[in-house]
Amino acid sequence: MHTNELPKHGKIVRIEEECQDVESFFISSKMEALPGQFILAWIPGMDAKPFCISSCDGSRFSVTVCKVGPFSEKIFEKKIGDTFSYFGPYGTSFSIPENQHLATVGGGYGAAALAWVAKEAKEKGCSVDFIVGARKKESILFAKKVKAAGMNVIITTDDGSAGLKGRTTDALADLIKNSRPDVVMTVGPEMMMYYVAKMCQEQNIPCEISMERYMKCGFGVCGQCCVDDLGIRMCKEGPVISGDLALQIKEFGKYHRDRQGRKVMYG
Ligand SMILES: Cc1cc2nc3c(=O)[nH]c(=O)nc-3n(C[C@H](O)[C@H](O)[C@H](O)COP(=O)(O)OP(=O)(O)OC[C@H]3O[C@@H](n4cnc5c(N)ncnc54)[C@H](O)[C@@H]3O)c2cc1C
Repeated sequence: MHTNELPKHGKIVRIEEECQDVESFFISSKMEALPGQFILAWIPGMDAKPFCISSCDGSRFSVTVCKVGPFSEKIFEKKIGDTFSYFGPYGTSFSIPENQHLATVGGGYGAAALAWVAKEAKEKGCSVDFIVGARKKESILFAKKVKAAGMNVIITTDDGSAGLKGRTTDALADLIKNSRPDVVMTVGPEMMMYYVAKMCQEQNIPCEISMERYMKCGFGVCGQCCVDDLGIRMCKEGPVISGDLALQIKEFGKYHRDRQGRKVMYG
């Protein structure tokens, strides 16, 4: 399937538990990548599946994996010193601003990619508000690390067990009212990104989102991740696209397609 390149292999040099069923795997391997890009982790004989790169310094990168099914469970079996095989990096990246006020809005493992975005933006003179949401306190990802790096973190939880009780979009609405960001970047559940993109469009704030679709080849050949009606490939023209472009995609916030191409509505 992956005829345009050979797989790459690195060694796992560190594993960090981020919360229950979410771990970051640090892999020693030469890589040039930008925040928002992804790799296809390859387990020979099983499959190759997409994961965002959550950090990369040229000689080492990390992916933050949520254990949800057979493939991610197999990654969780890996130990320090084991080989990690992958293809990529692939896809588009976030446009890191300079000397601006950036707000990131993250949910689930989306916070991992945004933590890297926030770090790069801070290094380019931006002030960063890192909004991160979860169902409950124990599931909040990357808040401590981002706070320790000197950025403002705004936590929301559905049950109110930490930070503001409510949604990340409520926190973004408050932020826009009180300290309007110049630019917004979001990664997380699609309905969350949909409301963020809509809010930003209404407020005329540039916004970028990372749109996930079922991916097979990862480099634009198979067409599995094309979206209705525009037909653009999320592995090649995405996953990072502008909020305005996302809102032109008919299926954004409404449905996606499974491995067989069947429509799955967002509930
Ligand atoms: C661009 C992109 C970036 C991603 N980044 C991350 C990340 O940083 N961390 C993380 O934990 N997960 C990430 N994912 C999702 C990850 O690919 C799936 O969780 C993983 O493939 C699940 O496989 P599984 O066998 O463990 O579970 P399964 O039981 O096979 O699937 C669980 C769910 O994962 C999704 N999924 C499964 N296979 C694929 C696939 N080939 N392409 C897209 N979605 C799939 C489906 O929605 C499915 O319902 C990303 C997906 C995309 C498209």
